[in-house]
Parts: sequence; C-alpha cells; structure tokens
Amino acid sequence: MTASPDTALVLFSGGQDSTVCLAWALTRFSRVETVGFDYGQRHAVELAVRPILRERISGLRKEWADRLGDDHVVKLDALAAMSETALTRDMQIEIAENGLPTTFVPGRNLIFLSFAAALAYRRGAKHLVAGMGEADYSGYPDCRDETIKSMQAALNLGMERDFTIHTPLMRIDKAGTFALARDIGGEPLLDLVIEATHSCYLGDRVHRHDWGYGCGTCPACKLRADGFARFVQEK
Ligand code: ZN
Repeated sequence: MTASPDTALVLFSGGQDSTVCLAWALTRFSRVETVGFDYGQRHAVELAVRPILRERISGLRKEWADRLGDDHVVKLDALAAMSETALTRDMQIEIAENGLPTTFVPGRNLIFLSFAAALAYRRGAKHLVAGMGEADYSGYPDCRDETIKSMQAALNLGMERDFTIHTPLMRIDKAGTFALARDIGGEPLLDLVIEATHSCYLGDRVHRHDWGYGCGTCPACKLRADGFARFVQEK
C-alpha cells in the first residue's frame, strides 16, 4: 500500500494533549486513524477513556465522524518489563539525581514513533501526529523538536517513505493547548477536553476540579491546573 497524503495516524493516549491533536488532525485530513500504547503505565485509566473520547469527538461534527477511522492499541510489554520509572512502578514522582523527573521513561517517545510509523506504513498513512512539545518541557529530551525532526529523518530513511511528523503543540504550553481546543472546536471541544481527557499520573478519576479530574498534586495535575488557570485569566 502506498502512503496517502490525506491519511493521518494520531498518537492518541487519551490525555489532553493528544486529544487536541486528534481534533487538529480531523480538521486537516480526510482520514484519521488513532494508535495508543499499553506499556504498563500506572495511569492506565488513560487507555480506558480513549474509546469514550473517540466516540464523543465524533459526536461534535458530522465531518469528524466521517473522517475518524480505525483505532489501534499496541501492547508494549517489553517496554513495561524494562522500565523502572514512576509511571510504571509504584515509586515517588520527583526529580532524580540525573536531573530528569522519575516519570521519564527512557526511549519511550522514540519507541512510540517507531511503532506508529510501522503501523502508518501498513495503513498507508503519510502523516503522523503527536502531542510532544517543548513549552511545558519538563526535562524530557524526547519531546524536543530536534529529536522529533531527527526521528522523522531516520524513519524515512529506514522505511523508504516520506512520512511527515506533525507536532502541533511543539511551541504551545498547557494554557495554549486549552485555547487551541476552543479555537478548533469551540466550547463543546473545550468542555470535552476538560471533562473526558485524563492527565493525572495517579489515575485519579474521582476528584473533579474546574480543569478536569485528577489528584491535584502530581506533576501532571499541577501542570494542567496551572495551565487552565492561565487560560481562564487570558480569555
Ligand atoms: Zn494527579
């Protein structure tokens, strides 16, 4: 199968960022598929909200429902088995001695992009859409623009393809991501992002804040709460 310039594969975790990326892709490409990765993450609730989000985002616009194609979940047991981080093991979320947060899973985004490209190759998708960004850069070297661009070059060389990796949030912080959701889909998309996406590292879907569900104290919750507060101030 040759790659279709109208088809995109979105790395869709069920979090705020990747949900906004999915909406972004649905406004641009006539066929949009999604892929999620199961790597034993402690916040596996992310995976549980994915089908709900897909269904609800389709309900926002008929055009989006027509464009949204298959969903794929790839189990990465090997990554789960070799990871010793706060996201896959029950350990404190903090800054480790190497200066990186203990939530850093070495190689994770590189592995995700490799599997996504292998899937895109088979599905005939030219475009990969991913939510990595530098603005809220929490010290993750695999979110850097240079990393993504290098990965795109390596994948195209190694697969003899012409993939384009889109990272619409590369320069946008969490406040900007809420604003982008509203720009793309108005209040209904913004409400969906707040209500149904999941960011909390601890998988808390019990405590509801104005910015959505979460424990309120883990780094992901703090980032989201802070971003929402700035978004509300600016709007
Ligand atoms: Zn949390």
